[in-house]
Parts: sequence; structure tokens; C-alpha cells
Amino acid sequence: MIIYLNGAFVSEEDAKISVFDHGFLYGDGIFEGIRAYHGRVFKLNEHLKRLYESAKSINLTIGLTKEEMQEVVLETLRKNELKDAYIRLVVSRGKGDLGLDPQKCSKATIICIAAQIKLYEKSMYEQGLNVKTVAIRRNNPDSLNPRIKSLNYLNNILAKIESTQAGVIEAIMLTQDGYVAEGTADNIFIYRDNVLLTPPLSAGILEGITRNSVIELAKDLDIKVREELFTRHDLYTADECFLTGTAAELIPVRNVDGREIGIGEPGPIFKQLLEQFRALTHVNGPEI
Ligand code: PMP
Repeated sequence: MIIYLNGAFVSEEDAKISVFDHGFLYGDGIFEGIRAYHGRVFKLNEHLKRLYESAKSINLTIGLTKEEMQEVVLETLRKNELKDAYIRLVVSRGKGDLGLDPQKCSKATIICIAAQIKLYEKSMYEQGLNVKTVAIRRNNPDSLNPRIKSLNYLNNILAKIESTQAGVIEAIMLTQDGYVAEGTADNIFIYRDNVLLTPPLSAGILEGITRNSVIELAKDLDIKVREELFTRHDLYTADECFLTGTAAELIPVRNVDGREIGIGEPGPIFKQLLEQFRALTHVNGPEI
């Protein structure tokens, strides 16, 4: 495996980062998870936009232009001869001292890894996931806005631990006010009363690129879609529920907190959207 590290392409063994890197010491940094399908990098512009917006928000100077970063991603795929892959782009504050002051970090650390990822078993895509709403709430946006795709994933990891310990594969986090927010690495949609609902950005969620694709596809299919707060009751009594994310793609949910959703199997709205999403991956994004 060939990895991009700070301007060079190196082997996995040589891809080493300082123990004084503030990404490691403090989770001070940002990242993107991106997918390539059929020789194209899906929604790469959108991922780069989100990366640079996250950087701006945390006052991090990346040191490469978006065009240069695009080339980093494409070249990493070329070097690894990959046409279908999961790509992890990470930018940390870089090497500093043991204090947390980011001013001591003179240069961002940039890495790009292209590999394969498999989040859930194939059968789960066909039958749906069992999920659980967990006690840990999604980060308060006033403290750390979930729109920043930062290296601070402890909130999500704590949620995942909670669901796994309860014997359920995925966790749904609620907002501070108790509305449904999102999964640990996925956005959530429900379909009820002939409307597709997903929590609004103001709820304190990541603005998922798959989420945005699904909203657009639903509009094209004349499915009514609203970004709106909803409760656990709305979730339990929905006709359909599914999660979206770059790694997970679109995955149906069949059971939430022991309540079967709809008829307990992937519904027609989910199936239509999945088909359109698959079609989009053939045409969207720059060619490798
Ligand atoms: N929410 C969180 C917390 C995530 O980490 C992710 C994965 N990036 C998502 C939602 C889905 O976002 P996207 O569709 O851009 O991958």
C-alpha cells in the first residue's frame, strides 16, 4: 500500500508521524472519508469543500490548494491502482510540543490513504440493521459543532460502545433536547406520512454528503422531503428508516430499540433511492 504523507508517496511501513503530532495528542485536526466508484471519485468537490470549511472553522492552515488536494487524492488512487476504494484524507495541526497551543505547530500534517472498507455484512444491507438510541447525546453544537468533521470522535465512539454493549450494531444519538440527531458515522432518514424526513443541520449533525445526495435524489423522484426535527416516537412509528454515509452508503434499519420499523424489511422508498444512488456513482466525480 502506498500512502501520501506530507508531499511524498511512501510505503505503509515508512508512513510515520511524530508522537508530538497534535492530531494524536489532542485530536486537533480534521478529516474526510471519500469513496471512488468505477474509476471516479464520488462527490470529490463536495468533500474538499467540507474539508476546507472544517479547516477554516478550526483556524487550521492546510497549506495546499483545493486543486492540489484533489491531485493528492487522485494520485494516491493511481499509485495504488485502485478504481473502487475508500479514501481517508486527514489533516492534523501537525507537530507541536506537549502543550495544546496550536501556535506551536508550524505545519499541518497531511495524509491520504486509499484502501477497502467493509462496515456491515451483506445480509444487513438486505435485511436491515438493528439500532439503539443511546444515552450519550450528540455533541452540543455550541461546544463542538458536529458540522466540523474533526478528529474528535469520542462522542461517536462512546455511542458505539453503548450500542455494542447492548448487543446492537449501531447507535442513534439524540440532540441535547432529545430529538433524533444521527448515527455514529451516518445520517438518518425516516419515511412517514408520505414524507421523507431527516434532521436539519441546526440540530447539530454532520452535513453528510450522502445525506445531501439522497435529498437531491428524492426531489428528482418527486418524493416529498423535509429537513425537520423528529422524536423517537416518530422514528418508532415510521414506515421506513435508513442510514446514509460514505462508508455505509445507504443501509436500511429494521428495528429501533426493539420496535420493528414498518414491515421490518427494506421499504420501497429506500429501494428507489438506493437504485438512483448507485446510478449516480457511475457518473459523478472526476476520473482517476
Ligand atoms: N455523521 C457522522 C458523524 C459521520 O462521521 C459521517 C461520515 N462522514 C456521516 C454522518 C455521513 O457523512 P457522509 O455522507 O459525508 O459520509
